[in-house]
Amino acid sequence: MATPLEVEAFLFDGYVFERPSILLTFDDGLIDHYLVATTYLAEQGVSAAFFISTEPLIKRSVLTVHKAQWLRANIDPELLRKTFFSLAENSIPDNKFTNYRNEADAHYRFDNSEDAYMKYLINFILPSDVVDNILTKILLGTGITEGELNRELYMHEEQILDLHKQGHLIGAHSHRHIPLHRIEDDFVSDIGTNIDVISRAIGTKPRWIAYPHGTTETIPKAPRTFCQKYGFAIGLTMEPGWNSSDSPPYRMLRIEQNDINSFVDQQFTT
Ligand SMILES: [Zn+2]
Repeated sequence: MATPLEVEAFLFDGYVFERPSILLTFDDGLIDHYLVATTYLAEQGVSAAFFISTEPLIKRSVLTVHKAQWLRANIDPELLRKTFFSLAENSIPDNKFTNYRNEADAHYRFDNSEDAYMKYLINFILPSDVVDNILTKILLGTGITEGELNRELYMHEEQILDLHKQGHLIGAHSHRHIPLHRIEDDFVSDIGTNIDVISRAIGTKPRWIAYPHGTTETIPKAPRTFCQKYGFAIGLTMEPGWNSSDSPPYRMLRIEQNDINSFVDQQFTT
């Protein structure tokens, strides 16, 4: 297991790992990461990296992406889709030249086609305030308030500070978790706020960022310029694969849990 410091040394100072090594990363600032994952990490003496989206810390709100996830986990899928599409009907652009379903299937490889389509509209097509209004309406209908769900889902500043003190890396993940290519004009306020809130919590500026969503379409168009502007040494995507010492540090690859087997096989059989 690599530590975040070893990864920096590997990329910038010629440090060599004795064998293929992995760094575990946890995105979004979820309380499960603090209560469950770090217990195992501590038992094993492993340092990991945690990337925090900060709006829930400031507003005691729930990120749109997590409203969608929570609803998908707690409502009958067909009922959710029906409710969602009836509320979204008037907002879905009628674009005869783009088949969002194909794009959705390509983007969400691990979801069934219907869920992929709904997730794609939510995260990439519909305006983010429209989506948030729709999901908030559905959420209220289930009887849970946004404040209650916030307390159920997210770490607090003290817990983030505790992770930092335990030697884990705390990194940026944007303030609102909107795909960065959709807010290109508004980077400064979103990323700037994210950096400020994290800096206040841990007393030092984050030097790594995990781009929210992280796929090729959603990372900044010029990741190097982006990182240099905000003082990030390392930017993590969700583009899958192993990194080498000459991988571009602003566009590091990551392997998500669903893909682990194929990539581990690949690394150890070649
Ligand atoms: Zn995320």
